[in-house]
Amino acid sequence: MKPHNVCILGATGSIGDSTLDVIARNAGRFRVVALAAHRNVEKLADQCARFGARLAVIADPSLEGELQAALRARGADSEVLSGPAGLLHAAGMEEIDIVMAAIVGAAGLEPAFRAAQRGKRILLANKESLVIAGEVFMAEARRNDARILPVDSEHNAIFQSLPAGFEQGLDGAGVERIILTASGGPFLELAASELGRVTPAQACKHPNWDMGRKISVDSATLMNKGLEVIEARWLFNARPDQIEVLIHPQSIVHSMVSYRDGSILAQMGTPDMRTPIAHALAWPERIDAGVERLDLARMNDLEFRQPDLERFPCLGLAFEAMRRGDSAPAALNAANEVAVEYFLEGRLGFDRIPQLVAAVMDRVAIVPLTGLEDVLEQDRTARRIAQEHAVTLQ
Ligand code: NDP
Repeated sequence: MKPHNVCILGATGSIGDSTLDVIARNAGRFRVVALAAHRNVEKLADQCARFGARLAVIADPSLEGELQAALRARGADSEVLSGPAGLLHAAGMEEIDIVMAAIVGAAGLEPAFRAAQRGKRILLANKESLVIAGEVFMAEARRNDARILPVDSEHNAIFQSLPAGFEQGLDGAGVERIILTASGGPFLELAASELGRVTPAQACKHPNWDMGRKISVDSATLMNKGLEVIEARWLFNARPDQIEVLIHPQSIVHSMVSYRDGSILAQMGTPDMRTPIAHALAWPERIDAGVERLDLARMNDLEFRQPDLERFPCLGLAFEAMRRGDSAPAALNAANEVAVEYFLEGRLGFDRIPQLVAAVMDRVAIVPLTGLEDVLEQDRTARRIAQEHAVTLQ
C-alpha cells in the first residue's frame, strides 16, 4: 500500500508529539512530508531530522535562519519556509493527503482553511477553527470534498458513535442528543470564593490529560467544553438543543450519542490522545496507538453530573454564543484567547476570564459572516475590545 503523505501543523505541541508517536508506531503506512511550528526551532529541527520531513515551516519569520542552521547541524536537508505564507503552502501542498491541524487558537484557522480549499483529509484538533468560522469552514470543506475527521477526543467519540449518513441531519439518523462529557478540570470541587486565587501552574495541571497550556486553562474554566459544544454543532450538523454537557470526572467515557429508541452509544478508553489521533489517521481502518488498555473490572466509580454554570460561567457564555450564531462564537473565542493569554502572563485573575468574555459579548456587534475575510475582521475587532476592556479588570 502506498503510504499517506502527512503534514502536521503544530508539530511541536502536545497533539503534534502524539501524532508523531502514532506515526512512528505505524512505519510504512504514513510518510511525514511537512512539519510546522511557531518558535520552537530546536524541537522542530529534531523532528524533521528524525522523520525525514521534506519541508520545515517556522511561523515566526525572524527564526528562518536559525531553523536552517539547526537543520544543517543535524544533517537534515528539509526545505525551509516561514511566516503565514509558509503555513499556507504546507497545508495545501499537492502531494499531501492528510493535514493534522494542531496549531493552538485562531492562528490555526487560515492554514486549516487552506487544507479545506485543497480537499485534504483534515484531522481537526484546532477546535477554534470551527468555533470562529463554523459555517464558512464546513461549506468550504463540502465544496472541495475535504473530509474532516475530529481529533478532539469528545468529537472523535461522537463520530465513532454516530451512524453513517448523519451529515444529512441527526433527526433522520434517529439521534436525539449528543452528550459531551467534561472532566470538570482541576477546580471541579473548588469553592467559587477560591477561584480568584488560583495560579497558572495550578490551572495547567489537568487531573487526567496532559495538554498544552491554553487548552488546559480552557479546561479549568470549562470554556474548553463551551468551544467543543460549538465545534459539535458544525461537525455533526446538530441544532443547539441537540447538544448537552455532562461532567464525568474520570474521563473514561469520552462522549455519547443518545438515540430515539432509548439506546445510548458511548466510546470509552484511557485518557490518551493517541487513540483519537490513530482513529482519524487510519479511518476507516484501525491501527496501533500504543495506549494502555482500559481495565473495566476496576471501573467501579464512573460518575456523571450536571455542570455548575454559576461557578463556571464560561460554559453558559458559549451556549449563548452558539444560540446567537453569526459572529458571536468568533467574538467569544477572541475574547477568551485574550483573557487566557493575560491570565497565563499573570495580568488577569482566573475569575476575571469569564468576566472579560461576558463584557466583550455585551459590547461587540454581532454580524453575519459571509467569508474568511469577514471572520478574520470580527476576530480582530473582538480582540481589540477585549484588550481595551481588560485594563478595567486588572
Ligand atoms: P500546544 O500548546 O501544546 O502546541 C501548540 C502548537 O501550535 C505548537 O506546535 C506551537 O508551536 C504551534 N503554534 C502556536 N502558535 C502558533 C502560530 N501563531 N502559528 C503557527 N503555529 C503555532 O497545544 P496543544 O497541542 O495542546 O493543542 C493544539 C490544538 O489542539 C488546540 O487547538 C487544542 O484546543 C486542540 N486539542 C488539544 C488536545 C490535547 O490533548 N493537547 C486535545 C484536544 C484538542 P511552538 O511549539 O513553536 O510554540
